[in-house]
This record gives sequence, structure tokens and C-alpha cells, in this order.
Amino acid sequence: ETLNKILDTKGCIRVFCRIRPLLSTIRRIHKPIVVGLGSEKIVVGSAGSRKEFGFDKVFSQEATQEDVFVEVEPILRSALDGHNVCILAYGQTGTGKTFTMDGTNDSPGLVLRALKDLFRQASFDSSASFTFSISMLEVYLGNLRDLLAPKPSNRAYGAVSRCNLNIQTDLKGLVEIEGLTEVDVSNFTKASWWYTKGRQVRSTSWTNVNEASSRSHCLTRITIFRRGDASGGGKAEVSKLWLVDLGGSERLLKTGATGQTLDEGRAINLSLSALGDVIAALRRKRGHVPYRNSKLTQILKDSLGDGSKVLMLVHVSQCEEDIGETTCSLSFAQRAK
Ligand code: ADP
Ligand code: MG
Repeated sequence: ETLNKILDTKGCIRVFCRIRPLLSTIRRIHKPIVVGLGSEKIVVGSAGSRKEFGFDKVFSQEATQEDVFVEVEPILRSALDGHNVCILAYGQTGTGKTFTMDGTNDSPGLVLRALKDLFRQASFDSSASFTFSISMLEVYLGNLRDLLAPKPSNRAYGAVSRCNLNIQTDLKGLVEIEGLTEVDVSNFTKASWWYTKGRQVRSTSWTNVNEASSRSHCLTRITIFRRGDASGGGKAEVSKLWLVDLGGSERLLKTGATGQTLDEGRAINLSLSALGDVIAALRRKRGHVPYRNSKLTQILKDSLGDGSKVLMLVHVSQCEEDIGETTCSLSFAQRAK
């Protein structure tokens, strides 16, 4: 409760930044051009032209998955307390969004750690009983694809009704995605099995994983049902935890893309800027929030606004050749802050 009070007084939007280490040996001979300065600042550029950006938290290239998780954990508690929560991984392709969210076998990422933590916290809470369900979808060229549908959906988006789910908003402003598969998960093992399955369904429908992740958004929704009566009776309070691996933020228009690739790039750029507009409007606490401008913001509408907690994890590269995109990402994030 006190923790939530602190979060409330500081506003509902947090922006963290994670710097991807230089990995290839070729690049290692270059000096990194992006460095963390303390735990809340990042510096871009060299002696001549330095630019500083401030965030709620900066994870340097040395930060571990556990370091990141520790800072994110309080927000998971808010989800159990009944707030809708939205955790978004933003950044240029190759900067570590999927590493942060999914991780590797050796160092699991945020989603699996979050699931583990939710079940653990729920089991310790004697004042309420919890049940959970999971849904996963991909948003590609404005179409929604159910990643946990019983039958694999057709590769051709829009060709099958399941590939173009409808987004409905009820009178209370709650968003419902019609026909989206929702699987009840009673423990961590089951939840992680379904999550892994969704990720596989996504990647096998593309010729390669990078293609999928740079041109579409992958959204995981954990629905939390909380009953104040520890025996599981009574009406459930429902909250949603969204874990989103966003499409690559690079400006494909400038890389000479044509045809389909150009459309895909435009769709991602448009939905990311729609997301930025929504967050900026929420930040300013102005009346009109332009949710309708993209499928992404329509889906997340009830988890971005009043009473919800938003965490944007902005990923950047340290390389000199990426400096243009890095500056764009940091400016985007700054606008959200
Ligand atoms: P994105 O999803 O943003 O396109 P990835 O998560 O696929 O980027 O990261 C690109 C590559 O860099 C992957 O091989 C990934 O394992 C590696 N990587 C990213 N971030 C880190 C990190 N913090 N530490 C170690 N390896 C990383
Ligand atoms: Mg990725």
C-alpha cells in the first residue's frame, strides 16, 4: 500500500533505459559512444558533442537480468493489487528488447521472472486468493493474430477471421479483444509452457525471427483474478498485466525500403508514434488522449490511462553507427517522461 502511494505520487509512467553491450569483436575496437552516468543519466557522444538524457533508471551495459527485474518487481505488486500494468520494450532492432523480455535459457528475461514472481507472491498472500490466465497476440500491419489459438492460424494475415480480431470497449471503458484465446494457468510451469508456445507460433510463421520482431508487436497479457475471500469465493477483481515486445523503432523509410517492407515499416512507425502521443498526453494530464490512432493503443487503452502503471523500457546501442537511432529513441523516451 505505501509502495503504491509512492508510485502514485510520482505519477503512473516510468521510463527506464537499458544499454546493450557491444558484442561483436569487430565493434569492440571502437569506443562506445553511449554510456550510463550513474543510475539515472545517459550520455551520448564524445568530448566535442555530448548530450545527456535523464531517466527514472538507467541500466548500464553490465546490468544483469536480475538487476533489471529487481527494479521492475514493485510494479508487479501493483498488478496483484488490482492495477492494470503495462510494460513495454522499445528500441531499434538489435538493441536487446527480446533479450530483456524473453532472455535466453541461461539468463531468463522479464516475462518468466514476472510469472514466477506473481505465482510466488500470490501464494504468500493470505488476504486474497488469485487465479491467472494468459493470452498472446501479434499486431502486424494493423491486424491482430491470436498466438495461442487452438489451431495454428493462417500465415496470410486477414485471410482468416482469427487473424483479424475485433477490439471492443465496454461502457466502463474496459477493452475486450473478441475471440482472443485465454488460457487459465494454475502454476508457473503451465504459464511458462504457454508463453514459450506463443513465442514459437510467432517465430515459425516468419522466415526468420528478426523479421518478425522488427515488423510486428508481440503482446502477452496476464489476467489476474483476485478474490478478497481467501477461500476463492465472491466476485473477482480483475486486472491485466501486459508485457509487450514492440516492433523495431528504426525509421525504415530512410533505409530505401520498398513495397511490403515499406508498408510494414510505416505501420510500425505509425503505431509507435501513436503510442508516444498517448503517453505524452497522459503525462501532460490533458483531456484528450488519442487512443484511436492505432490498434496498439486501442488494445492497451485501459492499461495506459487512469489508475494503471506504465513502464517503458527503452533500449539503445552503444555503437557510433547507431547514434542517429539512439538519439531518436532517447528523445522519444524523454517525451514520455
Ligand atoms: P531486439 O529484440 O531489440 O531486436 P535482441 O534482444 O534480439 O534485440 O538482441 C540482439 C542480440 O544481442 C541477441 O543476440 C541478444 O542475445 C544480444 N543481447 C541483447 N542485449 C544483451 C545484453 N544486455 N547482454 C547480452 N546480450 C545481449
Ligand atoms: Mg526482438
